[in-house]
Amino acid sequence: MNIQWYPGHMTKARRMMQEDIKLIDIVIELVDARIPLSSKNPDIDSLAGQKSRMILLNKYDLADPEHTAEWERWFKGQGFYVYKLDARKGGQMKAITNIIQEACKEKIERDRKRGIINRPVRAMIVGIPNVGKSTFINTYAGKACTKTGNKPGVTKGKQWIRLNKNVELLDTPGILWPKFDDPAVGERLALIGSIKDEILNISELSIRLIEFLKEFYSGILAERYAVDENCDKIAILEKIAEVRNCRQKGNVLDLDKASKLLIDDFRSGKLGRLTLEFPQEQKI
Ligand code: GDP
Repeated sequence: MNIQWYPGHMTKARRMMQEDIKLIDIVIELVDARIPLSSKNPDIDSLAGQKSRMILLNKYDLADPEHTAEWERWFKGQGFYVYKLDARKGGQMKAITNIIQEACKEKIERDRKRGIINRPVRAMIVGIPNVGKSTFINTYAGKACTKTGNKPGVTKGKQWIRLNKNVELLDTPGILWPKFDDPAVGERLALIGSIKDEILNISELSIRLIEFLKEFYSGILAERYAVDENCDKIAILEKIAEVRNCRQKGNVLDLDKASKLLIDDFRSGKLGRLTLEFPQEQKI
């Protein structure tokens, strides 16, 4: 499937992010735990330069825990600090700030040697649209935290949110553009809902999901829709339409409606916690 993507304001966004990155010590990148690589923009690697790096495997509540653990090891092997989370839920602030401090320990040590003590580490959130950046900032920096930087007389300063005495967060996240050149990546982004459904071929996408589930999560379709998974993928979609009574006028099966239903069930976690790509074997 070929998904067209129009770069639009990317150059400007990139330039702004370059400026923001100069101000911070650590780049915290949110990726979607169901597709950790496809939802990661490789450009941030060069943009981030030598800054400390942390990956948050977000929407962990929707991803397969076993594969998330593999991804966690994989990213650690690449030199990232890693944490998996559901950004909508609080209570993980301490664990996250501890990792941020650990990731920035060299900088803290450099400061200490220069006689600078207790200067907070500064962090910035980045990620592709819809990955959960605002949710994360709201949960972690919500009411409990004080905003700094917008002091009277400082009209244009950056707004920093003080998470605690050790960490400050830039209040505007950096929006990264998804990768758009690899059709397989486009498909995965489409499945998790990061590309507008209007520009997608939903039926084609649902067929790809059926193929993937048959291969990697056998039993799931049979369990939820009482279909025989040995059938051909189109027959499976027809069966889903039948079971869920997706019909057009004249009692004809409505495969578009069934496709949408299947994809919605996947996105909302009704099919269970699923991961669409694996570190060893990039597939779907
Ligand atoms: P942003 O575009 O990166 O700022 O993404 P948002 O913060 O607006 O989140 C996009 C959608 O994902 C919203 O509907 C959030 O409620 C949802 N969301 C964010 N984090 C999580 C998570 O960890 N788990 C689940 N299930 N949904 C999440």
